[in-house]
Amino acid sequence: MNAPLIDPFARAITYLRVSVTDRCDFRCVYCMSENMTFLPKKELLTLEELDRLCSTFVGLGVQKLRITGGEPLVRRGIMTFFDNMKRHLDSGALKELTLTTNGSQLERFADDLYAAGVRRVNISLDTLDEAKFAEITRWGRLPQVLRGIDAAQRAGLRVKINAVALKGFNEEELPAITRWCAERDMDLTWIEVMPMGDLGNEDRLGQYWSLRDVRARYAEEYTVTDLAERSGGPARYVRLEETGQKIGFITPLSHNFCESCNRVRITCTGEIFMCLGQEDVADLRAPLRSHPDDDAPLEAAIRAAIDRKPKGHDFDYSRQRLDGQMPRHMSHTGG
Ligand code: SAM
Ligand code: SF4
Repeated sequence: MNAPLIDPFARAITYLRVSVTDRCDFRCVYCMSENMTFLPKKELLTLEELDRLCSTFVGLGVQKLRITGGEPLVRRGIMTFFDNMKRHLDSGALKELTLTTNGSQLERFADDLYAAGVRRVNISLDTLDEAKFAEITRWGRLPQVLRGIDAAQRAGLRVKINAVALKGFNEEELPAITRWCAERDMDLTWIEVMPMGDLGNEDRLGQYWSLRDVRARYAEEYTVTDLAERSGGPARYVRLEETGQKIGFITPLSHNFCESCNRVRITCTGEIFMCLGQEDVADLRAPLRSHPDDDAPLEAAIRAAIDRKPKGHDFDYSRQRLDGQMPRHMSHTGG
């Protein structure tokens, strides 16, 4: 392996999140508008380019790769990519290959993902109510996702449910969702909503629900113990003593995890974001495309980008939140 990626603050970059498409078969209100204009195909990294890019990062010490989107499983041919990534698991260089999905295609792909070496999936699901699910995802259908979750568990994949916390929308469902996850032996993480998509115009679909309040809601029913465990990312965990369940809380823009940040993100067009909370971005597609047979320029571009990884967030997000503006969509950077 070449020298590993270490940023200027001595943090080793071992976790890469890659968005493989900006498209999706859902239109969640907090993520997209109903009428989306997607990127032309030539803008997207091809499957071969994605392979080369991810493999280069693995060669530079990335041990965990999370595939996301848009909806990663609607990208045509994506299973070929997963199958090909398996070689890095087999060699021992990559410790984990995983994905974040809306679950709609899992009935079809769960076994193949397991065969490609995937062992865990994050599935996004905000409500167990069929009508509400259709309302929040616009195009999604709950039974299809539930069948996908069944298929994932049958295939042997460990499932974590990610639920976006929306006041007045899934607030009342917190006990039911928590119980449902416990019964099915699935982990559960709540994500604080960021003002994107059409959420601002659709107040009836719920609104900002701070995770501090979600935690307080748990404390009404359970004995809640804070856990020290960190993942190098924005998640915090608690344990519910009565059930033994571990519950995660992700405040995407919180400032409290920067010192342990081990990750970078790549968009489906090959831009690398060194920090979710900052706008600094570098283009990796140009070195990929202009040197199809030589990885050295790509590697140099990756190192130059990591050298610019900031110490931490320095935006005033509270102000942006009030303005209701976010500089980019989750489906672009990959949630
Ligand atoms: N389509 C896949 C899915 O839904 O899991 C992967 C991409 S999606 C952008 C990744 C995660 O971002 C999902 O869990 C989704 O709920 C979350 N997300 C999207 N928009 C968000 C927002 N405005 N605030 C907080 N989380 C958001
Ligand atoms: Fe699609 Fe995921 Fe965004 Fe929902 S959150 S619209 S499923 S990319």
